[in-house]
Amino acid sequence: MNNIISYKNKTVGILGVGMSGLAAAKVLLNSNANVFAFDDLKKKPPTLPKSNWINYQKWPWLELYALVVSPGIPINKDIKHKAIQLALNHNVKIINDIDLFVETKPKAKIIGITGTNGKSTTVALLHHILKLNKIKSVIGGNFGFPACEIIDPGDNGVIILELSSYQLDGASSLILNLASIINITPDHLDYHDNFETYISCKLKILNFLSDNGTLVLNKNNELLDTLITKEKYQGINILKTQTINSQDFINENSSLDGIHNQVNASIAIALAKNLNINDKKIKVSIKSFKGLPHRMEILYTSKKIKIINDSKSTNGESTAAALSSFCNVFWILGGQPKIDGIGKAKDYLDRVVESFIIGESYDFFATQISKYPKKIRLNKCTTLKNATELAIKKAQISNLKKIVILLSPSAASFDQFKNFEERGNKFKEIIDSQIREGVLIC
Ligand code: ADP
Repeated sequence: MNNIISYKNKTVGILGVGMSGLAAAKVLLNSNANVFAFDDLKKKPPTLPKSNWINYQKWPWLELYALVVSPGIPINKDIKHKAIQLALNHNVKIINDIDLFVETKPKAKIIGITGTNGKSTTVALLHHILKLNKIKSVIGGNFGFPACEIIDPGDNGVIILELSSYQLDGASSLILNLASIINITPDHLDYHDNFETYISCKLKILNFLSDNGTLVLNKNNELLDTLITKEKYQGINILKTQTINSQDFINENSSLDGIHNQVNASIAIALAKNLNINDKKIKVSIKSFKGLPHRMEILYTSKKIKIINDSKSTNGESTAAALSSFCNVFWILGGQPKIDGIGKAKDYLDRVVESFIIGESYDFFATQISKYPKKIRLNKCTTLKNATELAIKKAQISNLKKIVILLSPSAASFDQFKNFEERGNKFKEIIDSQIREGVLIC
């Protein structure tokens, strides 16, 4: 476990004990810091000693050296969490897990990847290419290890950080050798208030690039082309993926189907090339990439029906990517909607035959889909089980020759599930039991 020398005997407050907050507590305790942790929404985690769990009202604010704030707690809004206000009043520096990671003083090259959609896939693909080409690589941040728990692979190694807008918002000391913004579309507007603030958090990744650092951008992204120009960001090398024909590299790897995955792959390829891996080796490596669960994951295939788990799709843009990849879709959607609901997915409603709506916001989604000129049958299903079983039943009696049953909710899962993983795993369980019961034949 990391030992952060600069935090020895320092008094530190930790606000929020999700994955990264708990990791910060563990690493700081291991560094012999004097740790105070609290979370208004959670009980004391069993792994945290009782003596470190104290309400922030009772922390010794005059002694505090730093406050580590969890990614989900906004630090820059007008109305602030009371602990953040106390830190400001007492001149305590406010940091996050990414800043703690910086304090571990890693020697490896550091690559930061952000974007609204595609971060985990791009990070995982790049990691896969590096590993197969004998470059020691570690993934962390929003995906993989919590940042401060990353063990430095050393001088010749690479650390790939997946960076969410929250983490970029809260960080102040990061230095990156390479960075990429995959795309920016409206999301998380409850946290960021508006699209402009969300954009500025994503653009913060540019401030973290080292002198002469390189930013990789996809060739066809109008918004990013307008926001990031050579004139505005002098001193940064902007590398566009113009010359990369990613389809040529993907070699019909079905886990990278869809135009959106060509975008992700172009970025991973450009970064791998920048790390001196040649085209031939990259191509061979991509062949064996398996893709990540819950992202357009194929669960079942028969002559007539294909079932896809895209539970990670929590916004309209990612569902647009899924719908645009298929025809004759029996679409399972719904949950806790984002402000624009199905958003860009409305452009691909011609791919949908029937919709099966789950979760708390049936009326909201039904109204959005009904605005489309083509009549799409709406099924109010409430639960994922009802929706899946009904979609299978209807697909089996349909006259269509090829059907895709797609779970791509275009919504957060929190109204019915702990997270997108629990939702996707539940979907898998339902499909498995339909196979066991002989409803679906393998
Ligand atoms: P993130 O880590 O940014 O959430 P993931 O790779 O986990 O990204 O993918 C999340 C969802 O977005 C999945 O439904 C996936 O199919 C979709 N997706 C992946 N890459 C893109 C992209 N470049 N553009 C739009 N949607 C994408």
